[in-house]
Amino acid sequence: MASLRILYSAAVIAQTVARLGQELNRDYGAVTEPVVLLVVLKGALVFAADLIRQLHFPCEIACIQASSYRQGTSPDALQVSEMADLTGRTVIVLEDIVDTGLTLQRILSGLSARSVQVCTLLDKPHRRRVAVPIHYRGLVLIEDEFIVGYGLDYAERYRELPDIAVLVPSSLPNEEERSA
Ligand code: 5GP
Repeated sequence: MASLRILYSAAVIAQTVARLGQELNRDYGAVTEPVVLLVVLKGALVFAADLIRQLHFPCEIACIQASSYRQGTSPDALQVSEMADLTGRTVIVLEDIVDTGLTLQRILSGLSARSVQVCTLLDKPHRRRVAVPIHYRGLVLIEDEFIVGYGLDYAERYRELPDIAVLVPSSLPNEEERSA
């Protein structure tokens, strides 16, 4: 069993998504050709659904499925689905969270678009194993915590939570238990 501790409330997430939307509108507001939002499934689904409704420029949606945390909190073998041909397109990759950077690195290496920028809701910079570019960044995690909610899962659970929460294994004593 595990318990949840809210890290970012739905209100904080909404503010962050609104800010990212403003940044994208500032930089892409003048485009004439539709921009492709490449959504990294499944984690970025909820983020993408909220973000796209903040955008005031023409866009299309494309999806790619990546899985590295298939059963739990430890990285498993990375699998990335086949990508649509985005040659010559202007692409914004929408990620839920950049952790080691390996997923993003793989996705970027398979893209031959005219221009590619990366927008992530969450970033864990201290966990990075490869350098990847991030142009639009929402919230930065300082602690090494495994989070769920707002599309992020643990073994496919908790995606429906409106907040982002830290999954606390119940084997770890909480503050009260420690001082008891
Ligand atoms: P990376 O390849 O950067 O190590 O991992 C990227 C993917 O790992 C993310 O898209 C996300 O699916 C998963 N991931 C990384 N950290 C977390 C986390 O704290 N919680 C959850 N639920 N998934 C995570």
